[in-house]
Amino acid sequence: MSNKPKIVVLGAGYAGMMTTKRLTQKLGPEEADIILVNKHNYHYQSTWLHEVAAGTIDVNKVRMLISDVIDTNRVRLVFDTVQEVKKDEQRVVLENGELEYDYLVFSLGFEKASFGIPGMEENALSIESVDKSRLISEHIEHQFARYSSGEETNDEALNIVVGGSGFTGIEFVGELAEKVPELCRKYDIDRSKVRIINVEAAPSILPGFDEELVAYARKSLEDRGVEFRIGTKIQECREDAFIVGEDNEEIKAGTIVWTGGVQGSSILDKSGFEVFKGKVNVNGDLRVPGYENIFILGDCSWVMDKENDRPYPPTAQLAIQEADTASDNLTALLRGGKLEDFVFDNKGTVASLGGSHAMGTVFSGYKLYGKTARAMKNVIDNRYLFILGGPKLVLKKGKLRPF
Ligand code: FAD
Ligand code: NAD
Repeated sequence: MSNKPKIVVLGAGYAGMMTTKRLTQKLGPEEADIILVNKHNYHYQSTWLHEVAAGTIDVNKVRMLISDVIDTNRVRLVFDTVQEVKKDEQRVVLENGELEYDYLVFSLGFEKASFGIPGMEENALSIESVDKSRLISEHIEHQFARYSSGEETNDEALNIVVGGSGFTGIEFVGELAEKVPELCRKYDIDRSKVRIINVEAAPSILPGFDEELVAYARKSLEDRGVEFRIGTKIQECREDAFIVGEDNEEIKAGTIVWTGGVQGSSILDKSGFEVFKGKVNVNGDLRVPGYENIFILGDCSWVMDKENDRPYPPTAQLAIQEADTASDNLTALLRGGKLEDFVFDNKGTVASLGGSHAMGTVFSGYKLYGKTARAMKNVIDNRYLFILGGPKLVLKKGKLRPF
């Protein structure tokens, strides 16, 4: 058995993939054994899952074999499900075995947060993984097929109700606005029979985002048939309806999707980490207080934005940048160097609204709309693929057609 230090990376999402990739670039083969653990043999782009959920992209476009982009001569790949981290024993318990580590990178990503809303866990679909997202598009199409065949006669079965107008909810209804007319044509259903309803508790969609861009997004979506119920809190989720507002109004639908929030992996809590709102507060160098050999990255951790005195919102952009700092710091730990604090370089936020529609801010607040914004979104997505797998990966998985 090798006596090199063992670095175990949990989760092949943005943070885990980029940390692993960077470690193979920064460390020599003699310096450490690197092990990457993931549930599946593929890596997927979580940022495209709303497209899978609406059925506007092929599932295989959003995922790639991990072995196609990670050097398997340098990294041992373990395809298994993490059950728990025994942090005081430096062991990871997997569904089918165990792993020991000297250094751990915990990057198991996000899960839906239902905030204890009655019925939400059991009755709502969610955009959480490739499989769960694919289930949504298949469920929607099934509703259309049942209605068109006469097996279902109630128009409400065609309704799609989406809970939460954060970026995930808004990007998803944007895709639906493109997909629903296509399904109507396929199943000979009048478009006016299908309602796409987005319910948001806050007084506006995309709470806290630039007002002008929010107004643009809302109009763009309403023009394409999306209905908004703003200032309307979801109180309960039943099998066929959201119960909303003070007077418990029922919004019936054949498809119910919850995009009302995310939290870090439940494995954090199970492993005895101190969790705040589903994530762990990490030090500036991305390590867990009290555990000098454990880094927690991406959607599993809170990193303080000292300028605004609040944590950075969990995004792929943040996870990718954290991977750079974590791999630098792991290299420093192995070589006896000095660790650096993470500094976020916010490159902006661009959201797609379906088809050629999009909006967002780039370069410290410069606003983009419509096709220009959509083109910028593609550039951002393709840039990640380029960093991960070079031009070959961009050609294979990138968004190369204008829209
Ligand atoms: P993830 O990408 O969630 O990866 C976690 C990995 O761990 C996955 O491979 C998963 O299969 C694996 N895993 C989980 N549990 C286990 C287990 N128990 N055992 C083994 N493996 C496990 N951010 C942006 O910056 N820009 C965007 O445009 C954007 N769009 C988004 C659109 C949608 C629809 C959603 C849902 C999110 C979007 N985000 C966006 C947020 C972004 O996707 C997340 O912040 C990002 O995915 C976090 O990366 P991560 O590496 O922490 O985790
Ligand atoms: P979120 O927490 O940002 O939004 C959830 C929304 O649901 C909020 O507007 C909230 O007010 C609403 N909500 C919560 N409880 C409710 C209730 N009971 N009734 C009605 N509405 C309720 O979650 P998200 O949209 O999944 O985003 C998660 C993270 O991913 C964020 O950091 C976001 O910035 C990021 N993201 C980024 C992009 C992008 O950059 N294009 C796209 C998707 C997600």
